[in-house]
Amino acid sequence: MQTHNLGYPRIGSNRELKKACEQYWAGKTAAAALEQTARSIRNQNWQLQKKSGIDLIPVNDFSFYDQVLDTCIMTGAIPERFHPLVEKAQLSALDLLFSMARGYQKNGYDLTAMEMTKWFDTNYHYIVPEFKRDQQFSFFNDTVLHQFLEAKKEGYLCKPVLIGPVSFLLLGKEKEPGFHRIDLLKNLLPVYFEILARLDQHGAYYIQMDEPCLALDLTEKERQALRTTYTAIRQRFPNLRIILANYFECPGANLKTALELPVHILHLDLVRCPSQLDDILAVPEFVNGRTGLSLGVVDGRNIWKNDFQRSLPLIQKAIQKTGPERIWIAPSCSLLHVPCDLELEAGEKSFLPEIKQWMAFARQKLAEVAALKQIAGDPGDALSKALLEENAKAIRARDTSLLIHQPQVKARAAVIAAADAKRTSPFSVRKEKQQHTLRLPLFPTTTIGSFPQTKEVRAWRAQWKKQLLSDEAYELLIREETSRAVQWQEAIGLDVLVHGEFERNDMVEYFGERLNGFAFTQNGWVQSYGSRCVKPPVIYGDVFRTEPMTVAWTTYAQSLTTRHVKGMLTGPVTILQWSFVRNDQPRSTTCNQIALAIRDEVTDLEKAGIKIIQIDEPAIREGLPLRKEAQPQYLDWAVNAFRIAASGVRDETQIHTHMCYSEFNDIIPSIAAMDADVITIETSRSQMELLDAFTSFAYPNDIGPGVYDIHSPRVPSKEEMVALMEKALDHIPAERLWVNPDCGLKTRNWEETTEALSAMIQAAKKLRKKVNAPVPE
Ligand code: GLN
Ligand code: ZN
Repeated sequence: MQTHNLGYPRIGSNRELKKACEQYWAGKTAAAALEQTARSIRNQNWQLQKKSGIDLIPVNDFSFYDQVLDTCIMTGAIPERFHPLVEKAQLSALDLLFSMARGYQKNGYDLTAMEMTKWFDTNYHYIVPEFKRDQQFSFFNDTVLHQFLEAKKEGYLCKPVLIGPVSFLLLGKEKEPGFHRIDLLKNLLPVYFEILARLDQHGAYYIQMDEPCLALDLTEKERQALRTTYTAIRQRFPNLRIILANYFECPGANLKTALELPVHILHLDLVRCPSQLDDILAVPEFVNGRTGLSLGVVDGRNIWKNDFQRSLPLIQKAIQKTGPERIWIAPSCSLLHVPCDLELEAGEKSFLPEIKQWMAFARQKLAEVAALKQIAGDPGDALSKALLEENAKAIRARDTSLLIHQPQVKARAAVIAAADAKRTSPFSVRKEKQQHTLRLPLFPTTTIGSFPQTKEVRAWRAQWKKQLLSDEAYELLIREETSRAVQWQEAIGLDVLVHGEFERNDMVEYFGERLNGFAFTQNGWVQSYGSRCVKPPVIYGDVFRTEPMTVAWTTYAQSLTTRHVKGMLTGPVTILQWSFVRNDQPRSTTCNQIALAIRDEVTDLEKAGIKIIQIDEPAIREGLPLRKEAQPQYLDWAVNAFRIAASGVRDETQIHTHMCYSEFNDIIPSIAAMDADVITIETSRSQMELLDAFTSFAYPNDIGPGVYDIHSPRVPSKEEMVALMEKALDHIPAERLWVNPDCGLKTRNWEETTEALSAMIQAAKKLRKKVNAPVPE
């Protein structure tokens, strides 16, 4: 029996990579310094994994930005617009990579960034490969080889990790009509062969090929692509040991295909899908064959301590059927999705020790993997018994903790009625009443909520958290910043204002800190995209609100202007989705508890005179189960939770929602069912592709398709924005269109923001002229 790991967090336990990247982008350090930070993170990670008892260690799980982007560069899938950067500007591979991720607006170039979207059902974003009909590939960049040699030189037994060619193609997008990206396999495979040949030559033995597409509903053609790929790899590289990794979902109807693939080890996510083990062990050809099984029993997606009493029977069952030699023990997926080290949570402000002993972060999970090998391999041993007893004690403590259960919360959630999830009147009636009270022009302009969180603002918060700044002093500074933002919005001429969210560190953390049932880490960072990291709250118990969370800030901003200030809340599904959620009750139950708390906040805002309230649900799409058959049930409870949060107000109160980061085309009917009066939604990076969905489905309410890609430092022109809105006008009548950016502006600076939003307001004026709308006074 052996242990291995699928991937380790690469940001560094103190976010060293984030800091180093941002310094480099700002031109403050040279590439060599960034490379040095990267090398030291890799080295520490390898060392730590080995020390923790991991027999086979992943390499090439490191990335400066994203592993799918790395695969694009590795295989030469570089969109044409970036070619001059290589050919003429002679950018280094590193700079090319950052340009593809972030856009390039320098030296006379103006190149838009590649699209970004969610990695399966996680909160990690990958860069979407762009494919053309005659797409050619080449072995363009050999970072994978360097990283392998780097680890080998240090003496580690390691395996390069590659995204398998089939998943790589499926994760991408056709950029022109007339082909399916899976048809590109024949062009792509030779490049993978070249890469594998080089690794083979240099002494690689194990190779981890991630094919998480097995978790999706695949067509027969796509399954055939998997068979073709792995049969060819086996034939060409009889000496390589391929570990084929699937995670995040059962292979379902793809199981037969997965079992047929001539690979050496098949990795299973037994946290998401424990039942697949029985299915596999019931196949005599598999049991009598030689393929190894990697049992992903330690949850790579959540922070709860592993329950050995549940994991061990799975391991024992597999050993019984196949013998221990074929068994590997592993986390369920890459540990990219959990924070680095629970031991860093030692400060005074850390959560209660009682809660801490229920948890395990990446480093602790490695120890769990090693402990499971020890116990399963030698159950009678004293060490095994001690490990088992210690684990059982922690699990029992959590089961019975009084911190978790609040009878009054459970009682309120139990009596939620259908009427609680329904606005009083239908949209058409509400729209008329809202127009009457709000008096907004055609193509109203607004923003998504946050404004630049400058160094100063972040410094104030950091000082305040360290108690170097009093509550009063901090509040005063934030008020001043809010007041400046309100004046600034009036000056540039926005129609619906926001307070700017300067008091918020993060849109989920802010609410979690004010709700009961949440715990917070000091250093529990997880990569979200590029250098952006989030610190997800931990929902450990029943959730409830004891007092208003946002009313003071919103009403303060409203007191400064005669224009409408939009209240800004995070929705229940997003709070759920971006937290580490308790695993002792269904997610839907936890979601309803959060929905009731947000509902109370919405009605408090209304009572305080706020007429427009936005409930952000950027994460609603990413909670969607990967398999179609499970999706309707999720959408039902998720949409209903939003409606519970939104439906406590009068018809006159305008409810907005906001969505981003995903493609929403496939869930537009559910988005419509949320029945928000207005939705602002990310569309600019994909050039309004979202609107294609509207040819077959008539979206009924108001909508603001984003015209400014805020994830890129690039500033779009007024003409570009008008053109995007004109596309929108083909599908949606002018009376129902809003003009706004793709998302909040907290990551941008004031200069870019001013330039972009001024252009956006000009664009709205142009549009009003175009449809001959009366000019507002
Ligand atoms: N209101 C939030 C903001 O503007 C929304 C962020 C998001 O959708 N991710 O920052
Ligand atoms: Zn957004």
